[in-house]
Amino acid sequence: MALIVQKYGGTSVSNPDRIRNIARRVGLYKAQGHQIVVVVSAMSGETNRLISLAKEIMEEPDPRELDVMVSTGEQVTIGMTAMALMQLGIKAKSYTGRQAGILTNAAYTKARILDIDSARIHADLDAGYVVVVAGFQGVDEKGDITTLGRGGSDTTGVALAAALKADECQIYTDVDGIYTTDPRVVPEARRLKSITFEEMLEMASQGSKVLQIRSVEFAGKYKVKLRVLSSFEEEGEGTLITFEEENMEQPIISGIAFNRDEAKVTVLGVPDRPGIAYQILGPIADANIDVDMIIQNVSADGTTDFTFTVHKNELGKALSILKDKVQGHISAREIVGDDKIAKVSVVGVGMRSHVGIASQMFRTLAEEGINIQMISTSEIKISVVVDEKYMELAVRVLHKAFELEEE
Ligand code: ADP
Ligand code: ASP
Ligand code: MG
Repeated sequence: MALIVQKYGGTSVSNPDRIRNIARRVGLYKAQGHQIVVVVSAMSGETNRLISLAKEIMEEPDPRELDVMVSTGEQVTIGMTAMALMQLGIKAKSYTGRQAGILTNAAYTKARILDIDSARIHADLDAGYVVVVAGFQGVDEKGDITTLGRGGSDTTGVALAAALKADECQIYTDVDGIYTTDPRVVPEARRLKSITFEEMLEMASQGSKVLQIRSVEFAGKYKVKLRVLSSFEEEGEGTLITFEEENMEQPIISGIAFNRDEAKVTVLGVPDRPGIAYQILGPIADANIDVDMIIQNVSADGTTDFTFTVHKNELGKALSILKDKVQGHISAREIVGDDKIAKVSVVGVGMRSHVGIASQMFRTLAEEGINIQMISTSEIKISVVVDEKYMELAVRVLHKAFELEEE
């Protein structure tokens, strides 16, 4: 007997038939004697619909109230899933985040899970119930509803698996595993049988939204056995996230990630003197705006141009902080924003022991006439910022150049 957490995403619960299908699958596992906790997302499109509704009332929705609204999507699907299980004669009980004991901090719309009191769930499992938990939501210390950021049901699933010391966490979605890149952009993408935790973390942080990054962090921290599978296929082993050290068969590159969510800010004509980076980025950090890539170039006249990227949603805020508080102070010539950029990254632990990956990447992009605006590297990834309109082309040609296609 094993304890398994199964998380089903939006498309897997998008109508009553699909919910019945989940119930059937849960029934099969239950019949094998396993204890099952199901985590569900809202029906696909529902979270977006709720956010749009909020925006009709308030252009920049109040975060606390927004969480009260968007968390309702998951409350609908837990009830439906529990009822679908009952219809099959399976004892089932649904839990909201609060009922499941999911305590978070108070950072509405992007809360972090602090603790899970799983006593009630354990008691129900021992009594033979399938427990169905709402993904994406929790409560803070005051008992106010919080949500975990887009895609947060993955994190609920993995965090619950960690808290319950589950044998496995299965993430069921609309693709049958982790691919070398998003199969919607490159149809030739290949499913990976396994991917190391480090690579998955890098893929997720560079924009592969198949798993929310925090879910991967949880899996790493608590060594949760994590597998991504299709909810539409009866069989298939999906992709296992492994914690093994590199092995000889490890490919050099495991995948290509991309991200359209960043925007670029350039501060032009800054005097080249100590303290400038701090004077520019200090106020940005004080406003809780995350900065990703940073470059600085010195021009012949002794001034420098300072460029960095932030999330698109925070571009306006970053620009106004710089114009109001920084520009005059450091006598910068101009401050410009550009949200028509995209970041493309090649990821693989194998590149540690291989030289020439960066030059192959740059050559491939050059051959297509794609200009690289920014570069950043780590031991296991190389990222470039390009014009948004060339993003898909860049992903496709890199996928081919690194021979990642299906054989
Ligand atoms: P769910 O609603 O089940 O959480 P998501 O839409 O959040 O599903 O995640 C699944 C989607 O992630 C896929 O449909 C696919 O388009 C996208 N995706 C992006 N990168 C990858 C990748 N490397 N491998 C597989 N899917 C990917
Ligand atoms: N329903 C939430 C979202 O759309 C959480 C999730 O699906 O994981 O972001
Ligand atoms: Mg998702």
